[in-house]
Amino acid sequence: MSSPAPWPQPMDGIVTPRFAGPVTFMRLPQVEDTSSLDIALLGVPFDLGTTNRAGARHGPREIRNMSAIIRRVHPATGMEPCRLCRVADAGDTPTNPADLMQSLEMIEQRVAEIRNHGTWTLALGGDHLISLPILRGIARATPGFTPLGMVHFDAHSDTTDSYFGGMRYTHGTPFRRAIEEGLLDPKRVVQIGIRGSLYSPEDMDWAASVGVRIIKIEEFESLGVEATIAEARRVVGDAPAYLTFDVDSLDPAFAPGTGTPEIGGLTPREAQRMLRGLRGLHLVGADVVEVAPPFDQSGGTALIGANMMFEILCLMAEARTAKR
Ligand code: MN
Ligand code: MN
Repeated sequence: MSSPAPWPQPMDGIVTPRFAGPVTFMRLPQVEDTSSLDIALLGVPFDLGTTNRAGARHGPREIRNMSAIIRRVHPATGMEPCRLCRVADAGDTPTNPADLMQSLEMIEQRVAEIRNHGTWTLALGGDHLISLPILRGIARATPGFTPLGMVHFDAHSDTTDSYFGGMRYTHGTPFRRAIEEGLLDPKRVVQIGIRGSLYSPEDMDWAASVGVRIIKIEEFESLGVEATIAEARRVVGDAPAYLTFDVDSLDPAFAPGTGTPEIGGLTPREAQRMLRGLRGLHLVGADVVEVAPPFDQSGGTALIGANMMFEILCLMAEARTAKR
């Protein structure tokens, strides 16, 4: 039995049944003041960027609900992220479900407020557009900010210029904007699992032209998990980086509860192996997005979301500790 941790821990499922207690991530304490935290788990209940089936606004609550099943210790590494670092659930960012642009400002503001104290965020989406205001918030609150690298799991590149006659802010555009705004260094961005059918043959030309490394599902299959990890690590390097995990990177057989499902995707096991292969990267922020509970009849997609959050929390906790 390990000694008591010096700060609050997730509620222990061997003491209090896992179906009881508050609905926070891993049943951690919920806090408003994040200034003493290393990592804040932050819900972003927003899906106004969705271009097809909406519903990801309900993601944070269901991911929290399913996260009650997660125990404290990582099964493969033995890591206890909530002992390594001060972690708590910071609740949800404000949003305005009737105003996309105002919501982006509200999300950015909350992330910057948290970041001003040096606290990192691991966000629960929400649709993929949330990554843009999160990256803006990180940049705004980071003195001497330089563009981040990024590991991006997705069926889609999300680098389209605009939709519906000039709408530049949807869940299909966040990384085009983030690169244009100097939030990401495209030459340190790697996308894994890309496979959805396209609007035009040129859809990914822009991303490729600025240096984004796109690993389509066919290339992933021929490389295999280990070589894909090696390539991702080569692209991103040792400098600060962001990690974004779109649950539609997984096959809809496993993760049907999402707005833009694409067949022929990753298995949860492949995703776990790849995430575990990213240990040691300098990850300073992350999100899990596109869990859409209205399409998630079994709750299995939210369960995957919660487990990917835990994998990423372990990576960030280790990165944070290495920084001390
Ligand atoms: Mn996406
Ligand atoms: Mn996607």
